[in-house]
Amino acid sequence: MNKQALKPNRMLIASAVNFIYGGAELAVSQMEGSHALLSAGVHETSDGFAHGIKGVTENLQKDLHDRRIRRLRVVVRSMICASALLVGVSAAEELRQDRAETLGPTAVLVALGGVAVHGGVAAMLYTKREENGLYSDAFRHAGADALSSFIAVGGTYLAARGYADADPAAAIAGASVTIALNLPWRIHDQHGH
Ligand SMILES: [Zn+2]
Repeated sequence: MNKQALKPNRMLIASAVNFIYGGAELAVSQMEGSHALLSAGVHETSDGFAHGIKGVTENLQKDLHDRRIRRLRVVVRSMICASALLVGVSAAEELRQDRAETLGPTAVLVALGGVAVHGGVAAMLYTKREENGLYSDAFRHAGADALSSFIAVGGTYLAARGYADADPAAAIAGASVTIALNLPWRIHDQHGH
């Protein structure tokens, strides 16, 4: 990767934010035992990859549908779908075996932070959306993510209130959204990554 590819732009800043907060969600999901947070972390990390690829593409002044970039996006999307599927299956297994446990307030707070991070990223991308189609797609996606982040908030909140099954149920719903947004064969879809 050359220097020019890594010159900061809003997409790369969004990518860094997604990776940092996604990493935090993944870490806390393991400490607190929250499937919903694990699912949110996988989604946030997937946005990190998507924004990173777009940011590098912008700096290199290449088309997002350039053959090599397209191939890379298909590989990344396939990995994301496979991870989300694993999260969904393990959450379903937890429900089936009736092993879900209630959560503490930390998981709820970190899930709420996810809404703020997606909202913040959407706001940051909004300012450039008029001049650049790439940015308006990413803005719409991040906005939709801010709304879908409430799935994890709801699941962790209910699990903290004693409804343990709400956490894995939210994980399954969240993983389904992640898969729907990242289907590798729908790469031309405007509303995807
Ligand atoms: Zn997303």
